[in-house]
Amino acid sequence: MIRVAQWKYERERMVKEQIIPRGVEDVRVIEAMTAVPRHLFVDTSYQHQAYNDYPLPIGHGQTISQPYMVAAMTELLELKGTEKVLEIGTGSGYQTAILAFLCDRVYSIERISALTTQVRQTLKRLGLKNANLMVGDGSIGWAEYAPYDGIIVTAGAPEIPNALIAQLAEKGRLVIPVGDEFSQILNVVKKHKGRIYRQEHFGCTFVPLVGKEGWDK
Ligand code: SAM
Repeated sequence: MIRVAQWKYERERMVKEQIIPRGVEDVRVIEAMTAVPRHLFVDTSYQHQAYNDYPLPIGHGQTISQPYMVAAMTELLELKGTEKVLEIGTGSGYQTAILAFLCDRVYSIERISALTTQVRQTLKRLGLKNANLMVGDGSIGWAEYAPYDGIIVTAGAPEIPNALIAQLAEKGRLVIPVGDEFSQILNVVKKHKGRIYRQEHFGCTFVPLVGKEGWDK
């Protein structure tokens, strides 16, 4: 049985060895990564690997993203604390918890209902009350609460879904992996005076975004 102090040590090691040396500088993101207990978002059989430098299985053929990827994508959202953020692909709920730590309100969509059920319990256990979860096709966004100051897609899309661009607020930022089913490039889309600006960042590999504006499976 690993004690609380040991998990804290593991988190600090993860941040020191995997997050900061790769260039993540946002102090609030570093604080969130140091605070959120990642081991609670994986099955007990994987907890001893929770702070290692790779993704892990979460069942249903899905994964919890590598810690660095979570930190880097979150940093690209440039959150200050007042934002409303939409997440597509709740998965384990770890990224959701990081967002809940860093912004005012999170809306997160997952297509696999069993994952959402688990995440509700974990977020409740952690006392994170500013995240709303929905089961559905996130490739078409969540129009009811739009526009969003930030949108983060944690699954690989063939193209940037038009629905997500439409649901992005003025001055908002959309972070999304775009490419084929095996590798993608992380894109950041910004909306300024109604115009769309798109920047490509680094390569990544995500499970596919499956849905109306994603992959057809
Ligand atoms: N942020 C998550 C984490 O760290 O645990 C990442 C989870 S995994 C890489 C991506 C998730 O996207 C999977 O759980 C998958 O079921 C979900 N997904 C794929 N297509 C989706 C869609 N159209 N709508 C909602 N969720 C989707």
